[in-house]
Amino acid sequence: MSFSIGIVGLPNVGKSTLFTALTRKQVDAANYPFCTIDPNVGTVPVPDERIEQLAKLYNSKKVIPTVIEFVDIAGLVAGAHKGEGLGNKFLSHIREVDAICQVVRNFTDDDVTHVTGEINPESDKQTINTELIFADLATVDKRIEETQPRARSGEKAEQQALAIYQKAHTLLDNGALLGEVGLSDDEQAQLYDLHLLTMKPMMYVMNVDEDKLTQDVPGHLVVSAKIESELVAMDEADAREYLTSLGMQQTGLDRLIRAAYELLDLITFFTSGPDETRAWTVKRGATAPEAGAVIHTDFQEQFIRAEVTNWQDLVTAGGEVGAKEKGLMHLEGKEYVVQDGDTIYFRI
Ligand code: GDP
Repeated sequence: MSFSIGIVGLPNVGKSTLFTALTRKQVDAANYPFCTIDPNVGTVPVPDERIEQLAKLYNSKKVIPTVIEFVDIAGLVAGAHKGEGLGNKFLSHIREVDAICQVVRNFTDDDVTHVTGEINPESDKQTINTELIFADLATVDKRIEETQPRARSGEKAEQQALAIYQKAHTLLDNGALLGEVGLSDDEQAQLYDLHLLTMKPMMYVMNVDEDKLTQDVPGHLVVSAKIESELVAMDEADAREYLTSLGMQQTGLDRLIRAAYELLDLITFFTSGPDETRAWTVKRGATAPEAGAVIHTDFQEQFIRAEVTNWQDLVTAGGEVGAKEKGLMHLEGKEYVVQDGDTIYFRI
């Protein structure tokens, strides 16, 4: 299993350019049985320096990073909720992803038309978000209609549910994204099965002109899709030199992948040995057996305990023998909540 981010935005903002650059980084599907072979899905490695250091420690034959999926969701235009463009089909694609990466345009190029005729990232965002809000309103209103008769018949639980649906309606009606209004855990749980689009975590990517790359735009990841498409076509040395000349340390794609990973509230744990060093992903808060399940169902079902060492401790101690001697390895049971950077050996 992996987590997915849908790339959305108005036409001609640079979504495909970014997506195509991302797919050039695609992993070898052989190592990831869950990989979907779909031209609109790119499964990419999550950049992580720690895995290289662990692999060096064990002289591992294979190094396998963890991955996330990007999904190219083209076709969102104003009026999608009324069926414009790909309409509802498009919205159902968004429903399937875990988070949304919204691309807005802030590059100038007279050869590339802007759908509304002028460069205005804020208004682009408004257009997209309004579509998401309208789609959610339709979903919530349908649910309100279904719940009302039951609530009228006096069932307490139904009345409470109805109150939450009505609150969601009011918020959406006022133009709010439900993911940004601080709904309580109970409210979120009540709305969960509606799979509302505006409850998904969202990040904004601003596609800028090459000379604006180093500017800071609060709340946005600033990239140049054009430069990213050039960088992925270069060999590593050239790419590094080019990056340096632009005053950047990391490619926009690497920053984007990391930011998406963080947006999803994911953490990484490692398994490491001479055969292979591998990074794995779990949701923050996962327990040791849940982490085991990511590797193999046996690791969850037959879990006895986990031998856990922070990756840095393991590297500093020169391996597990040293880590044990220094008391840096700890034995953990079923309740243990996995921490980012743990290396884990599962006893089953
Ligand atoms: P999409 O409709 O959002 O998928 O947009 P595309 O990625 O297809 O880009 C639309 C056009 O804009 C293409 O001709 C791209 O080459 C061009 N384009 C995309 N990103 C940039 C950029 O950063 N700078 C410039 N100048 N052109 C870009």
